[in-house]
Amino acid sequence: MGRTYAYVIGDKIYLNITNRCPNRCVFCIRENEQGVGYDLWLDAEPTAEQALAAAGDVSAFREVVFCGYGEPLLRWEVIKEVARELKVRYDANIRINTNGLAEAVLQRKILPELEGLVDTISISLNAADAEQYDRLCHSELGPEAFNHMLQFARDSKLYIPRVVLSVVQIPGFDPEPARKIAEELGVEFRIRPHQTG
Ligand code: SF4
Repeated sequence: MGRTYAYVIGDKIYLNITNRCPNRCVFCIRENEQGVGYDLWLDAEPTAEQALAAAGDVSAFREVVFCGYGEPLLRWEVIKEVARELKVRYDANIRINTNGLAEAVLQRKILPELEGLVDTISISLNAADAEQYDRLCHSELGPEAFNHMLQFARDSKLYIPRVVLSVVQIPGFDPEPARKIAEELGVEFRIRPHQTG
């Protein structure tokens, strides 16, 4: 357990603000011993001040990404505060990697709060239907999770300039039906490589 609130991969800096997540995806990097090469298990979630201190001067990075071993939007208030500050100080380009379920879990609208603060939202689509999603993601929201995530993707277009739906290329997974969903929603589609140990 530690306090790695920020880490760097290439020209991006990642902010690790929570380990909480309503899902238990079979391909989750949390299940992978090597992970991303950093110990991202937190013994305490950072405050906005701690996240800002860990990020430091981000002007050299192409993007600041909220992610973590968990669902960052469960802490949308921290994201809001940190993103606003990083924009004011460094005109940072802000992205959130999300499973798109925080609004359903917290039972409140979050997206309107992010308008003007977040440039890109990357939502894990992960499947082409509710049954497949349930099989892969084991969400505590059950099979309804898939529809919550899709609604979140639709609503994201109203508040965030760039919306991306992504799937993980796990063996035997056909990404084409998922690509169609992204096309129908009018958002970008991305296939992420499966990280193996
Ligand atoms: S939604 Fe993301 S953090 Fe949560 S279990 Fe799935 S891959 Fe892991």
